[in-house]
Amino acid sequence: MQDFSVLVVDDEEDLLETLVNRLNRRTIRTHGVTSGEEALKVIKEKPIDVVILDIKMPGGMDGIETLREIKKINPLCEVILLTGHGAVETGIEGMSLGAFDYILKPVRLEELLPKIAEAVEKKRGQVQ
Ligand SMILES: [Mg+2]
Repeated sequence: MQDFSVLVVDDEEDLLETLVNRLNRRTIRTHGVTSGEEALKVIKEKPIDVVILDIKMPGGMDGIETLREIKKINPLCEVILLTGHGAVETGIEGMSLGAFDYILKPVRLEELLPKIAEAVEKKRGQVQ
């Protein structure tokens, strides 16, 4: 296992499960939750290094609001946003709120894996 942990937050359960399984298979310790509220609970309880966060989620908290709260709880936690085509502005807005980066759905592992590695590097640089 790698020495960092990832949390995936996405309301689409199939996508979530697939992504979590794939990352775990790549030896990345990965948790998955389907809402912003659950994500905050995990952030408070576990040492999460990188959050992969869907922007568009139903209910009380969308991705942007979840991002704000994550950064309040753990400012060093790096967040990669998942955004749909036609919602790129939201990804850019997220970066102004402290997101590390955003990627477009559908998620391609060959795009996501290097971004996770970069996010971990950035976090390590800030911790030292
Ligand atoms: Mg969604």
